[in-house]
Amino acid sequence: YFNSDTLVYLDGKFVKASDASCSVYAQTLHYGYSVFEGIRSYKTPSGTQIFKAKEHYERLHFSCQTVGLPLNYSVEELTELTYQVLERNNLQDAYIRPLVYAATPNMSLTAAQESNVLIAAWEWGKYLGDRTLRVMVSPYERPNPKSVPVEAKVAGHYVNSTIACSDAKAKGYDEALLLDMNGFVAEGPGANFFYEKDGELFTAPPGSILRGITRNTIIDLAREAGITVHEKFFKPDVLQEADAAFMTGTAAEVVGVQSINERVLPKPYEESIGAFLGKRYSELVTGKLVLA
Ligand code: PMP
Repeated sequence: YFNSDTLVYLDGKFVKASDASCSVYAQTLHYGYSVFEGIRSYKTPSGTQIFKAKEHYERLHFSCQTVGLPLNYSVEELTELTYQVLERNNLQDAYIRPLVYAATPNMSLTAAQESNVLIAAWEWGKYLGDRTLRVMVSPYERPNPKSVPVEAKVAGHYVNSTIACSDAKAKGYDEALLLDMNGFVAEGPGANFFYEKDGELFTAPPGSILRGITRNTIIDLAREAGITVHEKFFKPDVLQEADAAFMTGTAAEVVGVQSINERVLPKPYEESIGAFLGKRYSELVTGKLVLA
């Protein structure tokens, strides 16, 4: 999906992806010191629409503030630049990756005083695919929120995600499910987690998770449909009693879970609340469903 002719926005200009470069001494490269977003645009009856651009760019601002990276663009400017990236590349259904990073050569551990801004976009199918997932409770925990600000979308945090995801795949599973430092279920490497029990939904509260924008959307869609959602801590043993489960994220959208640690969830995914909300989510992002 990477095309070297793609135009990316980079520090005030639109340049070919193949012409963009970065110093080998960039602080970002050595220490994972950058923040990013994952956003999607969809073809809708009123043209290409970026889903929840404001929420994503507000979270980017929050992430920058949290790690002390300056960001000299407003939410509105970032949104407008993103529409330009889509237009210049003729993209409608696209995945968008804004990155705020420190390209200045700097081997110190003092935060950079200036930042660089990249906005790239490409066509990308549903991350994690359409099939239901065989999930494994990971031996890797989410980072301790007292060590790193887990609610900020910081590049370096994704070493934890990459290790957990690769470990699950090496063991023959599709995806990992990570616990927090207290042994409560937190989230997947790049998606939030919900389970269904007796017609109600359960998901981890904020604390050790990324506050997913898809997670919030799903909670809104569920409550609008009269489905109770509990945001509470739970241990992985309660999943032995779960009827069904699913994961949510901008890239993954809504994806069903088939089994957790070999236990097949008894309710077929197509009949679960997750599948129902997944359909509502698709309608919402493509402008077919408009919420009051
Ligand atoms: N948790 C993690 C660790 C993630 O990387 C993501 C993807 N951004 C999510 C949850 C889901 O967040 P969102 O719905 O905002 O994409």
